Amino acid sequence: MCKNCETNPVILLTNNTKGLCKSCFFRYFERKFNKTIAQFKLISPNERIGVAISGGKDSLTLLYLLNKLKSKKRFTIEALLIDEGIKGYRDNTIKDAKKFCKELGVKLNIVSYRDEFGYPLDMMIKKLKMKPCSICGVFRRYLINRYSRKLKFNKIATGHNLDDEVQSVMMNQFRNNPEISARLGPITGIKDNKKFIRRIKPLYLLSEKEVTTYSYLKNFKLKFCECPYNTEAYRINVREFINKFEEKYPGTKHSIINSFLEILPDIKEKFRNAEEIRYCKKCSEPCSNEICKACEIRSKI
Ligand code: SF4
Ligand code: ZN
Repeated sequence: MCKNCETNPVILLTNNTKGLCKSCFFRYFERKFNKTIAQFKLISPNERIGVAISGGKDSLTLLYLLNKLKSKKRFTIEALLIDEGIKGYRDNTIKDAKKFCKELGVKLNIVSYRDEFGYPLDMMIKKLKMKPCSICGVFRRYLINRYSRKLKFNKIATGHNLDDEVQSVMMNQFRNNPEISARLGPITGIKDNKKFIRRIKPLYLLSEKEVTTYSYLKNFKLKFCECPYNTEAYRINVREFINKFEEKYPGTKHSIINSFLEILPDIKEKFRNAEEIRYCKKCSEPCSNEICKACEIRSKI
């Protein structure tokens, strides 16, 4: 039974004993979303927020909820989609994204690897002996930051949920990468830099299961498709390990995030001055070496 109104539940809560019915779940989900924005001061009035969308359930849920909240909290939104050029995957999700934005009346900006770097990802991987995700991740971060500035966004919102963050935190622990963890959190980055647009994660405290349920019950008609290059074995193993642990010891994911949030201010402080921000000699984007990673890969293509 639903823990509030004793009707049939649509989802079980973390402790697996009580659930929520459809309307109580919507209320719970949206409250948690709005509370995360308020608690971590993710958005201020009059800000122009970019929403990085892929056409998948997380980013479209994010867009839907920010669109719902924008007049009440007095901010504006525009969507930004990066088209990597992955046949059979991105071309499908772009269709869903376009339709969704049109229905909501949100402006959609599309930037492609082909226009920016000369080739779609499918062709780049034939030319370079590199893992697809290593090329793709660098170029995507690069374009999101560059275009967020160009489009004058104050911040860029991404659809990362609780499960994504737990995986990243644990991967950094297992690999002894505290400096990378310092850049995580509901609002990313360590120190302000006008060339770095801060990323915000309003779905930070909502689990994958909750976001999937929400998008399904809201009838967001999305085709499920996964990137054919998604073979990052390390993350997949960590995800499976955490999911098994959560099943056996419910509440594990929330515990990891809560303890991470406790220590995050200290880790950020520790690394605040550790790395000097430099500017790429070729494209002037912020980076940590003489030439940024994107220009380095671009020169090899
Ligand atoms: Fe790019 Fe890898 Fe994500 Fe596919 S799985 S979209 S290649 S980063
Ligand atoms: Zn560069």
